[in-house]
Amino acid sequence: MTTITIALSKGRIFDETLPLLAAAGIVPAKNPETSRKLIIATNLPDVRVVIVRASDVPTYVQYGAADLGVAGRDVLIEHGGQGLYAPLDLKIAKCRMMVAVPEGFDYQSAVRQGARLKVASKYVKAAREHFAAKGVHIDLIKLYGSMELAPLAGLADAIVDLVSTGSTLKANKLVAVEDIMPISSRLVVNQAALKVKREVLQQIIDAIAQAVEK
Ligand code: ATP
Ligand code: MG
Repeated sequence: MTTITIALSKGRIFDETLPLLAAAGIVPAKNPETSRKLIIATNLPDVRVVIVRASDVPTYVQYGAADLGVAGRDVLIEHGGQGLYAPLDLKIAKCRMMVAVPEGFDYQSAVRQGARLKVASKYVKAAREHFAAKGVHIDLIKLYGSMELAPLAGLADAIVDLVSTGSTLKANKLVAVEDIMPISSRLVVNQAALKVKREVLQQIIDAIAQAVEK
């Protein structure tokens, strides 16, 4: 019997992946929102789901502790993608990675004048690449959450964060000034598992691919 482990994070990724897994005939027995279990059985005796931090999904899949996982493009860029095959854009958990500054901060002239910007972000790789491509020198400050606070508290001039409706920015008197890239989640597969468990993994990948296209 080939056992399959799928790494998911709770919240939007778990919720939005459920219908895609269902299309592959996989139904988790519990919801991590209401259960404290980190290993969740499914209707299939040889398939289980492990619940990990969103940014840890690529790591579990890279080392083969999970065969499959679902991770945001943001998370995959920061991880680097080593050991991963990312065959499918699942078109879920969509948002945009953007540069945001306090209302009233003249970002364009700060950039034009070549001022050294202080930028705070959880997405340091993506942020570094974005500003390097523009030729803008920055001091980058790594944060793990609540990026919106950084400019308000005087830690940074600008943040690089994920934006969907923009209401969190607005509530903190910030405005998006630059669009870096669209974000959605991808299916990631352990490269070695894909060889060893090809038949069963390919069936799951194909079923999910069909469900995404519907
Ligand atoms: P943690 O809460 O454990 O620090 P996280 O905040 O990255 O991790 P989530 O908020 O569940 O975890 O986000 C998971 C993924 O969903 C992100 O990596 C990103 O790809 C996507 N995402 C994040 N924010 C939004 C949003 N506002 N709208 C849509 N998708 C989002
Ligand atoms: Mg979060």
